[in-house]
Amino acid sequence: MTNFTKTKSLFHLPKDIIYLDGNSLGPLPVTAESRVSHMIREEWGELLIKGWNEADWFIKPAQLGDRLAKMLGAPPASIILGDTLSIKIYQALASAIDLAADRKIILSDTGNFPTDLYMAQGLISTINQNHELTLVEHEEIEASLNENIAVLMLTHVDYRTGRMHDMQKITRLAQDLGIITIWDLAHSAGAVPVDLTAANVDFAAGCTYKYLNSGPGGPAFIYVAPRHVNNIKPALSGWLGHDAPFAFDLDYRPGPAIERMRVGTPPILQLAALEAALDIWDDIDMANVRAKSIELSEMFISLIEKNCPQLILASPREAAKRGSQVSFHFRDGYAAIRALIERGVIGDFRKPDIMRFAITPLYLNEDDIIKGAQIIADVVNSGIWKQDKYHQTNPVT
Ligand SMILES: *Cc1c(COP(=O)(O)O)cnc(C)c1O
Repeated sequence: MTNFTKTKSLFHLPKDIIYLDGNSLGPLPVTAESRVSHMIREEWGELLIKGWNEADWFIKPAQLGDRLAKMLGAPPASIILGDTLSIKIYQALASAIDLAADRKIILSDTGNFPTDLYMAQGLISTINQNHELTLVEHEEIEASLNENIAVLMLTHVDYRTGRMHDMQKITRLAQDLGIITIWDLAHSAGAVPVDLTAANVDFAAGCTYKYLNSGPGGPAFIYVAPRHVNNIKPALSGWLGHDAPFAFDLDYRPGPAIERMRVGTPPILQLAALEAALDIWDDIDMANVRAKSIELSEMFISLIEKNCPQLILASPREAAKRGSQVSFHFRDGYAAIRALIERGVIGDFRKPDIMRFAITPLYLNEDDIIKGAQIIADVVNSGIWKQDKYHQTNPVT
């Protein structure tokens, strides 16, 4: 059994803050501070360029990829770290389109995160081969699958509502029709159990700064199924994805397996923070995290519904269909979130009217949920959010 009292002590959590925003940015793992300072002082400071060999900087993206692979049911050498999730989605999609030969349709749902759609639009116009991005409502995905579709690109857990697709079932239905699948795990990795091998996924990508707690700007990861990886031609053919980067050949030749999905120089400072964050996951059973997340989410929903009837549940009521967040509709959600942050309860707002709260058992317990729900009810019921100052929008919501 995971000891959640212990895991909570492994994070720096500011006093008097109830943090319900771990789906946007995970909190600071206590050891990340010393790990990053060590990296700066002893490695960058003392080793200088020698760090690439002597401190293993060069192999960090693959080493940490293997640690993530264990968490996500993937074999060694199938996941690599680097770049941002937007870039990793672009790479996955370019490769998937290539594998799908003469089919032209990329299917996604309207609940997908905009950057995934924007990257698809950019790629389509760059390759200029009449591909089309088709969007349907999430409930219509299964019925929309057919043999004209090249790639099905979905985000597993909806960033607004927390609604979770059945990854294994949809992947199977798609593959039966010869469709290549890409799963965005932004709100899944570290949030819900994921088994990429069991689900037979073709491509997946995700970020590490949300539920995995690697810090702002932490690198993304990409997974390519071993059955495909040696057949794909990287669209972003950077030198560190080359078979022999230090041969300095004039022609690109893809590196072995997942190494070919590297692009340029990896963010070593961020990887040091990620390494500290991943240490926390070593002793953790994801099934325990899931069970606790459901228990806390159910408690949160029932407290809010009982004490704060103005908030209308936007997440699926059935726990099995939800990721690790709970969202509510409230017309003045933005102002309410601003007022809540001032009272020490941090959640966030997504247009048009979603108040979003992440339920992260590693550092949230029953007390936090009870207190958090009480403050939310107080703030919403009191109407304090009506004050002008809560209605001015910040650049980041
Ligand atoms: C957070 C998130 C992203 C973010 O992409 P970045 O390139 O890391 O900024 C992408 N997709 C989904 C589904 C997300 O939730």
